[in-house]
Amino acid sequence: MKFSELNKGCVGEMLQLPLDINIQGLAFDSRQIAIRSGVVFFAIAGQNHDGHQFINDAYEKGVRLFVVEQKVKMKSDASYFLVTDAIVAMQALVKMHRIAYNYPVIGITGSNGKTIVKEWLAQMLDDQFDIVKSPKSYNSQLGVPLSVWAMGEHHNLGIFEAGISQTGEMARLEQVIQPTLGIFTNLGEAHNAGFENLTEKAAEKAKLFAHVQQVVYCADHTLVDQVLKAAVSEQTVLVPWQIKEQKGKKYVMDVLQKTFTFYLKYDDPASVENVMHCAATLALLGYDQGFIQLRLNRLSSIKMRLEMKQAINRSYVIDDTYNNDLYGLEVALDFLGRQNQRAKKTVILSDLYQTGLSNEQLYQRVNDLLQKNNIQKFIGIGEEINQSSAQFHVSAQFYSSTEEFLAAGYSPNDEIVLVKGARDFEFELIVNNLEQKAHGTILEVNLEHLIHNLNYYRSKLQPQTKIMVMVKALAYGGGNFEIANLLQFHKVDYLGVAYADEAVELRKNGIHIPIMIMNVSPTSFRLLKEYNLEPEIYSLDQLIDFLDYYENMQDLPAIHIKLETGMNRLGFTESNLQRLIEQLKLNKHLKVKSIFSHLAGSDDPRHADFTKQQAARFERMSSVIMESLWYKPMKHIVNTGGIASYPELHFDMVRLGIGLHGFDPTQTEQGQLKIVSSLKCNVSQVKKIPAGESIGYGRSGFAKKDTTIAIIPIGYADGYLRAFGNGIGQMLINGQLVPTIGNVCMDMTMVDVTGVSVKSGDEVVVFGEKPTISALAEWIKTIPYEILTNVSQRVKRVFLSE
Ligand SMILES: *Cc1c(COP(=O)(O)O)cnc(C)c1O
Repeated sequence: MKFSELNKGCVGEMLQLPLDINIQGLAFDSRQIAIRSGVVFFAIAGQNHDGHQFINDAYEKGVRLFVVEQKVKMKSDASYFLVTDAIVAMQALVKMHRIAYNYPVIGITGSNGKTIVKEWLAQMLDDQFDIVKSPKSYNSQLGVPLSVWAMGEHHNLGIFEAGISQTGEMARLEQVIQPTLGIFTNLGEAHNAGFENLTEKAAEKAKLFAHVQQVVYCADHTLVDQVLKAAVSEQTVLVPWQIKEQKGKKYVMDVLQKTFTFYLKYDDPASVENVMHCAATLALLGYDQGFIQLRLNRLSSIKMRLEMKQAINRSYVIDDTYNNDLYGLEVALDFLGRQNQRAKKTVILSDLYQTGLSNEQLYQRVNDLLQKNNIQKFIGIGEEINQSSAQFHVSAQFYSSTEEFLAAGYSPNDEIVLVKGARDFEFELIVNNLEQKAHGTILEVNLEHLIHNLNYYRSKLQPQTKIMVMVKALAYGGGNFEIANLLQFHKVDYLGVAYADEAVELRKNGIHIPIMIMNVSPTSFRLLKEYNLEPEIYSLDQLIDFLDYYENMQDLPAIHIKLETGMNRLGFTESNLQRLIEQLKLNKHLKVKSIFSHLAGSDDPRHADFTKQQAARFERMSSVIMESLWYKPMKHIVNTGGIASYPELHFDMVRLGIGLHGFDPTQTEQGQLKIVSSLKCNVSQVKKIPAGESIGYGRSGFAKKDTTIAIIPIGYADGYLRAFGNGIGQMLINGQLVPTIGNVCMDMTMVDVTGVSVKSGDEVVVFGEKPTISALAEWIKTIPYEILTNVSQRVKRVFLSE
């Protein structure tokens, strides 16, 4: 399809068309363009992000086809199509693309389980069909067209998911997917905000099935049944299934007037339901009980995210066994390409299956991707990849099997290793070898949620206001380089740290954006120049030491002046302002980047008057300094609490700290933020304690009756404070909150699990979605900051990304 054909499918105006070539790819984020010619860039003006600002970026990368929502400055050799809504235009374009294919397409919607059902169906059918499916959980107004665009000649089955959040959305997605067969997974209470009530939500979802031949659903969901009957056309056959009998692992299901008996390895209700949707769909496609059972046995659990873990020899391993197609590889390489904390990058990849391409074409594509993402080392494992070694032009090694590779004894060194393989290659053995195994307790850091929070706070700023993110104390315990690297990628303006050492580590790990340091002692002045770091200067003595050190140097580090306005911590007071100004006048080569202060009570409306006083003093003091300078430094005063509560005090920059991690100290924005960190481990042992016996050091815990306890491998040396002992703290095991019993030890804690079904190895959530860090803070009468920054360095950080 040529760019000019946009005119046929969507309402808009072709502004200029010097170039009219076939459309090869769609993009809306200029950072993620790996250019082949024919990419169309859709400039979408969103709430937090305006795509029009990235048009030049995209042009620089080689894009010449643009769909825009407003008139922009045009380059003479690029084509531009003007529309009112670029997402609608993308949908219209993909709808035209979709019509070219007439193989079956399965459309999946429902409140929960869409992605799992899609992935499991693909697992069960991947040797029967060449499948094209939504990557990850791409099911939005934007995700759906991007998914359906991947449909090609060489596929013969499509599986796409669709999700909505308000009325009117599903009809648009239906037009793009045009499913021939439907699956309605279920209805939950989630995302109710955009709907009057549950029935309206159900009816909207059912619109995906307006033209399907059949639709599969669980007969127990009566509302689903009811809305489907109203939504579908006369030709559509409804295919409800129902579990008639269950005993242990045996499930008897009725569907299509037939009875099937299956044995399932899952026992939680959600997984059983998801599995049954798949089984019923296979029955509908004509497969028999034996075939379906074999496929059910093979199902593997679906990891929804990429995981980056700390590995041996100062390395990281990105564990990606979730997706084994070319697109999944692109996503993972893109993630790897963005990690700057190590210069060396390695990819370990198995044979890829079911791509529909010849081996030559396929591994040429893989080689292109490796080169585009600057991968220095490639390790291919498998017969086919081995035979295609001629396609690789990066430094590469090949092994015919995982055993052969493991026997060769590979060990990384200061590098980031992406491990990606088909299930039957058992690459988990490789990941297991590379992972740092010091300690089973992990701090999971959800990078998507972190960026959600960043963008939430950004949406509160005027477009010209800059943002500094405070990453002191290892980014509030979350992990320094990884978070700083992500913030750099998302174009924050400044980072703030407490000490020079922290800043030097960031510089050594690929961080090049400006960094402000709050406590600089004379012993670290040398580092400022060497690593291009900017100190906070808070007193006359410090300023004079600094100027002495850099005497005779014209190009000395820029500084930030801290003013004392009410915190009574560091900062110039009003009384020594004149002396400061004298120094600034004497040293005209010294560049003041900013003048700032810190609020003592921005989180609490009771201190509103005091905050205003602080601000007034800040204005007064900073203008006196400004008058003496021939240029204008930036001014800033608010932290997280102030961003939300005092928009009038944002000045030129804001300093975001705890908000990034999902805590709103003012409590007013809490509902909009997402939880970033979860501290998790697994039960070490479960024990029965007879009534009357004591538990742990100091014998403070007593079994008043016969008691079952679980021993949890986390103690005060990990940051689980001793104050949580003796029932003050609770942990989540198998969905239940259980209290501690006895004192917290250095490396272990005991919890009372009497009456709860718990076995060794079960997952324990110390904090996360539940219980929250705020709850933990309340239990021991402290603040979330302290709980977060306490998690010890020996706890391994695992970074999650979609
Ligand atoms: C830590 C810090 C911040 C961030 O504070 P939050 O309350 O976490 O947002 C801002 N400014 C300075 C000077 C800080 O030390």
